[in-house]
Amino acid sequence: MKTPGIARKLALVLLLGILLPALFYTGYEVASLSSTEAMITGIYTRQLDALLFSVNQYAWDVAQGWSGSVGTILTETARSVPDSIDRRLGDFLAGNPSIASVVAADRSLQQARVFRRDSRTLLTASAPRTTLHRLAEQREMFDRLIRFHTARYRKLEPCPPFTPTDSAGIALAFVAGGQEDAITIVGMTIDAEQFLRQVLAPKLLESAGDEFILAVTSKDQDSTLFATSPVAPSSLRQARALWLFPDYLLGIRMKGSTIEELASERSTRNLILIILLDIALAAGAWIVYRSIRREMLFVKMKTDFVSNVSHELRTPLALIRMYAETLDMNRIQTESKKQEYYRTILQESERLTRLVDNILDFSKMEAGKKKYTFADVRLNDIVTEALRVYAFHLQTEGFTPDLRLDPSLPSVRGDAGSITEAVMNIIDNAVKYSGREKYLGLRSMVEDDTIVLEIEDHGIGIPPEHHGRIFETFYRVTDGLVHNVKGSGLGLSLVRHIMDAHGGSVEVQSSPGSGSLFRLRFRRSPEARDR
Ligand code: ADP
Repeated sequence: MKTPGIARKLALVLLLGILLPALFYTGYEVASLSSTEAMITGIYTRQLDALLFSVNQYAWDVAQGWSGSVGTILTETARSVPDSIDRRLGDFLAGNPSIASVVAADRSLQQARVFRRDSRTLLTASAPRTTLHRLAEQREMFDRLIRFHTARYRKLEPCPPFTPTDSAGIALAFVAGGQEDAITIVGMTIDAEQFLRQVLAPKLLESAGDEFILAVTSKDQDSTLFATSPVAPSSLRQARALWLFPDYLLGIRMKGSTIEELASERSTRNLILIILLDIALAAGAWIVYRSIRREMLFVKMKTDFVSNVSHELRTPLALIRMYAETLDMNRIQTESKKQEYYRTILQESERLTRLVDNILDFSKMEAGKKKYTFADVRLNDIVTEALRVYAFHLQTEGFTPDLRLDPSLPSVRGDAGSITEAVMNIIDNAVKYSGREKYLGLRSMVEDDTIVLEIEDHGIGIPPEHHGRIFETFYRVTDGLVHNVKGSGLGLSLVRHIMDAHGGSVEVQSSPGSGSLFRLRFRRSPEARDR
């Protein structure tokens, strides 16, 4: 059956209306996935940056607070209660063990004192020469700090330690005290590792929460000084130098998956969803296309049916009428010729009857009103009877049936009239669809638990792709050689209906050019089985 042009139009509409927009949308989504991924990564990166910033700010604030306290003790206390400097500074250093030492110098940087705490007391000493030397080296920085101080802004500046014993730490230089000569230049050395463990660690733990891992590593990320959870330094995607200790890096990553993994996981998930959606849409469009196409084919088959049936009715009617008129006018002289005319009339009226029977049966079956009367039926008798009725027709068409019936064939439970109708329809087809080779074989046999009736022809055959559909109502093979043979498309659908009602089946074996074999398979009647 050829696809009508309208089905192609429908396919085009579905393609343009559903599939193409879906494909465009998919393309657009896929293209925007990577930019979404980049956007998400960007947002997360900024969030992580903000966290790093706040930790850095915190460390700086702590150091600034210390510089404020140390500055106050060294200058204001010195002015009001000079004797209490050591005690107060001692207490302060005891409370903040990260501060390794404090160097306090006068503005000229000629004289300086070093305060340091051992486990119990504050050790005070005048600065050794190295310290004075190092202070002098930083004169430029101190001048700058003094300018800031004069402008009433306390600035901290990280620099190498002034005391040789604290070379592992970092010094924070600042200026304290009043104006001009009343100022004190201070270098507060902080032990970096102590600071990280005692001051920064709690803050890092608090900031990391359950979501992040924060870690302080060496600059080259070779070693980790502190991490909120075990982490390989190389997996820290974002790292910033600590403002206080530029030799250390503060790094961050998400716990579990990295941002990139999360973003790409999300993209993959979205992509899979889009593909599934597309598949569902395509399947939906395919189903819609198939059902509408089927519906249209059915409508077309019905239209063909009407025109075919009209033709099928008109041809025998015209013949009957023509022969009857000729006979009526007594124009035929010889008896044998008359006989031939009578036979043609009979044969054509039989053809008409079968067509009308088929149509009536079909409408009864459609309405579910077809009634079957079951009795024990001998299939061999049905075949012989059908051939007897058809004898003249077969003879004029040039067929000599090849009959091989199993004489011991058990009977079946069935409706004799309906089975005859099924057999006649198949014989009718064998005659209609045979070319030059006129062969009609009829065989009956017992096969396993079934009783089989085979009807074979050597006609034009049926292409395999139609085998499944020839039993559908109105279905006709309209391509190839069958094109010129008229028919209603009802015959085989009636055969199947009848066989279904008998709990049996109908099978076809056929290929173009080598003929067809139809096999009616009946169940044995219970009595026959007992025998
Ligand atoms: P139709 O009235 O067209 O013969 P049927 O339902 O009897 O309707 O058959 C359906 C179609 O199956 C036919 O149109 C024909 O194409 C194909 N067919 C049936 N029997 C044969 C056969 N013996 N040889 C070739 N084609 C056949």
